[in-house]
Amino acid sequence: MSVYKLNVFTCRAVWKCKAFSSRNMHLLQDKAFVNGRWIAAASNNTFQVTNPADGCVIGVVPDMNTADVQQAIGAAKSAFDSWQNTTAKERGKILRKWFDLMEQNGDELAKIMTAESGKPITESKGEVVYGNSFIDLYAEEARRINGEIIQSPMPSKKILIERQPIGVAALITPWNFPHAMITRKAGAALAAGCTVVVKPAEDTPLTALALAKLAEEAGVPQGVFNVITCDRQNASDVGNLLCTSDDVAGVSFTGSTAVGKILYKQCAQGIKRLGLELGGNAPLVVFDSANLAVAVNGTMASKFRNCGQTCVSANRLLIQSKIYDTYVDELSKAIKGLKQGRGDEAGVTAGPLINKAQFDKVSALVKDALDKGAKAVVGGKPAPQLGDLFYEPTMLVNVTSDMRVYNEEVFGPIATVLKFETEEEGIKIANSTNSGLAGYFFSEDVNQIFRVARKMEVGMVGVNEGLISCAEAAFGGIKESGLGREGSHHGIEEYTYYKYVCVGNLN
Ligand code: ADP
Repeated sequence: MSVYKLNVFTCRAVWKCKAFSSRNMHLLQDKAFVNGRWIAAASNNTFQVTNPADGCVIGVVPDMNTADVQQAIGAAKSAFDSWQNTTAKERGKILRKWFDLMEQNGDELAKIMTAESGKPITESKGEVVYGNSFIDLYAEEARRINGEIIQSPMPSKKILIERQPIGVAALITPWNFPHAMITRKAGAALAAGCTVVVKPAEDTPLTALALAKLAEEAGVPQGVFNVITCDRQNASDVGNLLCTSDDVAGVSFTGSTAVGKILYKQCAQGIKRLGLELGGNAPLVVFDSANLAVAVNGTMASKFRNCGQTCVSANRLLIQSKIYDTYVDELSKAIKGLKQGRGDEAGVTAGPLINKAQFDKVSALVKDALDKGAKAVVGGKPAPQLGDLFYEPTMLVNVTSDMRVYNEEVFGPIATVLKFETEEEGIKIANSTNSGLAGYFFSEDVNQIFRVARKMEVGMVGVNEGLISCAEAAFGGIKESGLGREGSHHGIEEYTYYKYVCVGNLN
C-alpha cells in the first residue's frame, strides 16, 4: 500500500466508508476468487482499496504473490479439461445467466465502481451497461464459432478446419474501466471455451471481485473464472509468471504502452498468444466544414469522459483556422459547465484523478506547457478544496510541439488545442505519433469524410462522433497502440486457434 493512501485516511472519510459498506452491498468481497472458493493470500498479506475522492479506505483485499497465482493457474488449467468440452450452447447459457445477474445488480456494481475509481455515478451506470453488453454479445457469439469444410484438391481427402480454444488465458486489466475491460476479455475467452485468470488493477479490484461473485451465482464452474488480487509491488512478478507459465496459453492486457512492451518481451519466451490494448494519444480534428455544435459535443464526450482517463480519449485537439476562434469560445463554455466533485454526488460530471501518480503526472504536464508559453483559457491548476486528487478541467491554447502535452498521453481533464491551416497539415499532425488507437474528426464534407477516414493512422475512427465503443464493434489499435481486436466476433479470434484436420484414404 502506498504511503499516500495512508496519509489521506481521515475521520470524515471513515464516516463515509461506513455509509458505503451498507448491508445492501452483498457484492463487496475481501477475498480473491480461485477455483470457486474465496481465499486469502497464503501469506495473509492484504492491501487497502481507497476512494480517490477522499482517500477513505473502502475495502481490503489479498495481496497475492506468485505462489498464490500459480494455484490459480493450476485451477484454470484443470477446469479447462472439462470447460473446453462443454457445448457452445451450454457456455452461452451460463454467460447469459451471468449477464442477467449483472443487470439485476447494476446499481450495486456502479456504486462499487464509483467508490473505487472516482468516476461519476452516471458514468459508472453507463459502464455497467457497456460492460454487461460484452457478456450479452458473447453469450450469443459462442454458438457461432464455426469451422469450415474446404474444397479438397484430392477426392480421397477431406479437409476440415476446426476452431479450438487456446487454453488458459491470463487477463491483466486497468483501473479506468474496472468492469468493461474484464468482461470484454472474459466474455470472448469463456465463450470460446478458455478458462481465465484475471488480475485486475490494484486501484480497482473490488469491481472485479463483484463480477466474480456474480459468476459464482451464475453457476460458472469452479476454476473457469478466477480473480487474483495484488498490490503494485507484486504486479511485475505476477505479470511475469502469467506471461511465462507453460500452463498459460495466452495473455490479454489493457494498460500502458510501457507495461505492454514488458509483457510482449516476456510472452516471446513461450511464443504466447498476446492481445495488447495500449495507450492512445488520439487526435481530434475539427475541419472548417464541421458542424460546430456537433464538434463541441463530440469533444466533450471524448475528452472529458472519466476525467480524460480513457485510452481513446482525444489527446490533441487540432482545429482548422477559420473555425478555430468560435470553437475555442464554445468549448470553453462547455468545459466551464462541467461540475466537479465526488462521483456519488448528484449532478457531478467530473471526478478526481485515480491516484497520486496520475495527479502528479497531469500537474507536471500542464506546468511544462505553461512554462513553455501555453495559455490556460480554462482551469490550469489543481482543485484542492475538493480533495487531493482533483484537477480543474482545463483548456490549453498556444500549444507547440516541444511541450510534453503535445507528445504524451495526458490521461487527465486537459484539452490541448492546436491550430492548423490545410487538411493535409491537419492529417500530418494527427499522424505524427507512434500511437494509433482512436482518431476523431468533424466534417460535413462527404468527400473529406472518406478521404480523411482512410488517411488517419489509427485502428478506430470516429467521424462526427466522440463515443465509438460498443460490444458489436472491433476495438483495437495499430502502431504502438497494440495487437489484436476486442469486442465483436473478431474478439473470439484471440482465444481460438484453427486446427486443420485431414481425413485421408477415403473411397
Ligand atoms: P497505469 O500506469 O495506468 O496504472 P499500467 O499499465 O501500469 O497502467 O497498469 C495496468 C495493469 O497492469 C494493472 O493491472 C497493473 O497492476 C498491471 N501492471 C503494472 N505493471 C506491471 C508489470 N510490470 N507486469 C504486469 N502487469 C503490470
